[in-house]
Amino acid sequence: MNVEFINFKTPLIRAFLEAGRILGSPTVDYNAPEHLGFGYVQTTTRNGKRLSAAKAFLHPYKKRRNLHILPMATATKVLIDTTTNTAYGVQYVRNRLKNEVRARREIILSAGPMASPQLLMLSGIGPRDQLSRHGIPLIKDLPVGRTLYDHITFPGIIFSLNTTGVSFMESRSGTVSKFLKWMQFGDNEVASPGGVEGIGYIKTPLSTEVEDIPDIELISIGGSLVSDGGPKSSKATRRGMRLSDDIFNAAFGSIDNTDTWSAFPMLLHPKSVGSLELKNNNPFSHPLLYGNYLTHPIDAATFVAAVRHVQALAATPPFQKFGAKIHPAQYPECRKFNFDSDEYWECAVRTLSATLHHQIATCRMGPVGDPLAVVDPELRVHGINRLRVVDSSIIPQTVSAHTHAPAVMIGEKAADMIRSSWRYK
Ligand SMILES: Cc1cc2nc3c(=O)[nH]c(=O)nc-3n(C[C@H](O)[C@H](O)[C@H](O)COP(=O)(O)OP(=O)(O)OC[C@H]3O[C@@H](n4cnc5c(N)ncnc54)[C@H](O)[C@@H]3O)c2cc1C
Repeated sequence: MNVEFINFKTPLIRAFLEAGRILGSPTVDYNAPEHLGFGYVQTTTRNGKRLSAAKAFLHPYKKRRNLHILPMATATKVLIDTTTNTAYGVQYVRNRLKNEVRARREIILSAGPMASPQLLMLSGIGPRDQLSRHGIPLIKDLPVGRTLYDHITFPGIIFSLNTTGVSFMESRSGTVSKFLKWMQFGDNEVASPGGVEGIGYIKTPLSTEVEDIPDIELISIGGSLVSDGGPKSSKATRRGMRLSDDIFNAAFGSIDNTDTWSAFPMLLHPKSVGSLELKNNNPFSHPLLYGNYLTHPIDAATFVAAVRHVQALAATPPFQKFGAKIHPAQYPECRKFNFDSDEYWECAVRTLSATLHHQIATCRMGPVGDPLAVVDPELRVHGINRLRVVDSSIIPQTVSAHTHAPAVMIGEKAADMIRSSWRYK
């Protein structure tokens, strides 16, 4: 799995790092042990092209004779012998046909933070009341889906610039010739991960953490929500965040498709806790997710503290060189508050925040006796033999990072544990 820096940079990333240093955040490699500070974004790409876990770990070995990959197959149930509580196979559907595969040693469930808990519950492992509600015979009463953490972000702190041509704008860079150049060399703005250029880890005054653990990540964008505007542009970011046209146009219509800078704060350790439940006993239904975002008052207040920090960054000379000026977004819901009051920003946060899809903890890891644990520290499902969950659903607590790298780390660590547990058997 390759990790690299982006070759293409706007001048705004240098301003971000310099402004950080002025306010006391050193320029760091945030993947090193000390990661409070600001640094250039690092991506899992190779020559500017995205490298998925499948491309990195599976594609080179897909011809191995002891590896069988069944694409387009949907696992629908883990088969468990109820006399011994031992998992022995997986039921799946492929080409509309139901089938089964048996395991000589053990089953590794790795369907991610939504589908792994769903599959456990469909197989009889989960909260007793939920399973009985959906007519699923209970094999093991465990708090599957009881805990759900996620990272949300607020993309609404946008600064207009008085200098043209310094930021990413899809209307300028989304051309066929730039795309072809990226295909060949991977070194222009098309290689940018959605305009993200820098990452900063800060500890706001609201943090009660004694150690040097950040509570906010700042994602510095060489542009903003309005950078994918214009008549022929994708509007991918606003669509991905499911912003309605009404809210977008009221708040940002006047600066659409112009040069801007923004830093998205991401709440690293929310106190609000969500949950996941089965919708029904159909494996092809989606489970129900209850994010419960911003239900704990400290979470919204931490976002407001982050807004103030971003404003302070923008007020420093490196950003004032570009005439950075906060855009007074008008949200229909927030008109009753004075622009730039704490109440206004809290309202804006509640209106605009979106998930970054870092769901975790739905099959939480913890020792025997932990009332919230689903798997043990070797990722074996409590009370069930020969069944492990190996994906981001086992992460017990929020991490000060995005969740892809932790998911890969869990896979590598689990591979070692699985190998060592079968070595002498
Ligand atoms: C839009 C988006 C953007 C993201 N951006 C970033 C980012 O920039 N950086 C970062 O660090 N993280 C990012 N994340 C989060 C990161 O992708 C996840 O945390 C990570 O992929 C979790 O890994 P996982 O192995 O637990 O689950 P997944 O990656 O979800 O893997 C689960 C796999 O199981 C398969 N599956 C599910 N159900 C079944 C079934 N019933 N039968 C068979 N197969 C099944 C799925 O198709 C999938 O391939 C992003 C997530 C999303 C959705």
